[in-house]
Amino acid sequence: MKYVVVSGGVISGIGKGVIASSTGMLLKTLGLTVTSIKIDPYMNIDAGTMSPLEHGECFVLDDGGEVDLDLGNYERYLNITLTRDHNITTGKIYSQVIERERRGDYLGKTVQIVPHLTNAIQDWIERVARIPVDESGLTPDVCIIELGGTVGDIESAPFVEALRQFQFRVGVENFALIHVSLVPVIHGEQKTKPTQAAIKDLRSLGLMPDMIACRCSNKLEAETIEKIAMFCHVGHNQVLAVHDVNSTYHVPILLNEQKLTGFLTKRLELQKIKLSDNMK
Ligand code: ADP
Repeated sequence: MKYVVVSGGVISGIGKGVIASSTGMLLKTLGLTVTSIKIDPYMNIDAGTMSPLEHGECFVLDDGGEVDLDLGNYERYLNITLTRDHNITTGKIYSQVIERERRGDYLGKTVQIVPHLTNAIQDWIERVARIPVDESGLTPDVCIIELGGTVGDIESAPFVEALRQFQFRVGVENFALIHVSLVPVIHGEQKTKPTQAAIKDLRSLGLMPDMIACRCSNKLEAETIEKIAMFCHVGHNQVLAVHDVNSTYHVPILLNEQKLTGFLTKRLELQKIKLSDNMK
């Protein structure tokens, strides 16, 4: 199983969901079976109890799960059917760990965020990633994990730590990270400082970006890409420019033009999964 994590910095609502779904869609074009998990770092068990005025409509899955709208994006972009377990919230994870504690599963132990909650998050991801989500009934090859919120928030800290550990649990060749950042345009100039700060925060938490997706109102200038690559310690091919488009269905085209699948194929050795699957 290969995992592609999509996280975000600077501000929320930056387009992580669209970039995550588009990445999944492009990986599907390689013939891979793709699933997705959305992490929402709020205490609600699900989005059903939140005001639509505050959070937008919730999306109702086939199994009745009331979840974040992004799950709807995944179902449409990837042509898959997800379950309520594909949406992990802080509320769900805490409630699972507390239930286990009451049952006596950790008897004698002090139950802590690390390792009990972070292990529960990793076990949940591994379990749910394997659920077949399309008509083929096959175990997915790739799981796209979108981490809601912004890295550095108190809310997402246990998930960030769980993902930091997870890269070692599954192996570096099975774990890639796309960090979505904002490049604001101030007085006509594309500013890279917020992205530099966001990547610094990410690295200080033990997560290394394989790709930095830069959201900007207009097309990224070559000079901006150059600056981000240099100050964020990545190659030019690891900086993805995602400007505002009329329809979000153009985002996969933008990512494809920037050879996202080629990069991920190499980074995650995707060719090998295809080969081993063919041998089955
Ligand atoms: P997040 O997952 O970071 O909260 P979303 O993916 O839900 O963000 O996107 C937030 C909003 O921005 C959505 O309304 C989406 O349609 C819009 N959006 C995302 N990417 C783009 C883009 N490249 N161009 C124009 N609008 C976009």
